[in-house]
Amino acid sequence: METLILNTNTPRRLAAAVKAAAGELADGQCVGLPTETVYGLAADALRPDAVTQIFEAKERPFFDPLIVHLPSREWLGVVTKIPDESRALVAALVAKFWPGPLTLVLPRQAIVPDIVTAGLDTVAVRMSAHPVFSAVVEFYGRPLAAPSANRFGHISPTAAPHVMSELGGRIPLIIDGGPTQHGVESTIVKVDSGELTMLRAGPVTPENLGEVFHALCESRNYRPTEAEVEHFYERLGVSFAKMVRGEDNVTMVAPGQMDSHYAPRTPLRLIAPGVQVEIYSGENEAAARLGSLAFCEPSTASSHFVCEEILSPTGDLREAAATLFAKMRHLDEAGLDMIIAEQVPEHGLGIAIMDRLRKASA
Ligand code: AMP
Ligand code: MG
Repeated sequence: METLILNTNTPRRLAAAVKAAAGELADGQCVGLPTETVYGLAADALRPDAVTQIFEAKERPFFDPLIVHLPSREWLGVVTKIPDESRALVAALVAKFWPGPLTLVLPRQAIVPDIVTAGLDTVAVRMSAHPVFSAVVEFYGRPLAAPSANRFGHISPTAAPHVMSELGGRIPLIIDGGPTQHGVESTIVKVDSGELTMLRAGPVTPENLGEVFHALCESRNYRPTEAEVEHFYERLGVSFAKMVRGEDNVTMVAPGQMDSHYAPRTPLRLIAPGVQVEIYSGENEAAARLGSLAFCEPSTASSHFVCEEILSPTGDLREAAATLFAKMRHLDEAGLDMIIAEQVPEHGLGIAIMDRLRKASA
């Protein structure tokens, strides 16, 4: 199959690309599309035959459920059943973060095919803020299932050429919307009995979610106890007390995610900043080709490295997240024996970055 890439850099090209994408989707095909997080591989979420194509192109196991992207907020009630006790929380989250990089896991309606949810009684839903993705899903008018547009277990694509190298020849069309803004996958939270549980760290941080919690309490004229506040953040995998002090504060590794995700083919080792990688200067290791993925400055041990990538010269976590996968991919393609990655501060967006680095090193 020949894979076409269409540009969106003029209004006319965008309109043509949106139409072409919708045409493929209506044909039951899948299409590579940019979102604000990473590139997605989209198909009609309500058509099992179309969704099957996603699994085939990605070589993704059928037990790994997909995220459903909605054309509008009105679709939320069509694909999910929101229990009464979660209503206010869901409404507040949707009002604050949609469209945007927050995925909600909620009880599903029967309209959602089993293949999308891997047979679970919940479905993950999101509404993208990306101008290209939202134009396509709005024009098409039906929800799209769209996991990241990479082969299973590979690094998520953050630019159209990455999608081409992952899925070229397997899908008919990729829409190029330039590099993605956030660079790491959406935050996933499960909403259950009026409470949130973090399933995957992402661009919407525990701090951001905490603002909704406090606003909800305020709107009810309720002052939460210290224990209630701690409980809220604990379910998001962080400690409130440490967060206030600006300390690294992860208390758990996000559950429900497969370790094989985000892995470069090259072995990746995670080290503390400034640690000398002496282990590699031994006799047997001397000839090893090492690359470095550093947060904000070149490693002190740079003489060991064949190539170095700096995630953010100014130490900005946003920039680091946005460039993480492209730089990891670049190192992965450099024919190295090992990538040495430096840890980043584990607060705010750093939580999502460290989550991906840990998975890449697993
Ligand atoms: P991706 O679309 O590749 O970014 O990954 C989708 C991920 O969302 C899956 O690997 C699951 O971890 C998560 N997910 C999707 N649906 C559900 C669900 N119903 N319950 C829990 N997690 C889900
Ligand atoms: Mg993925």
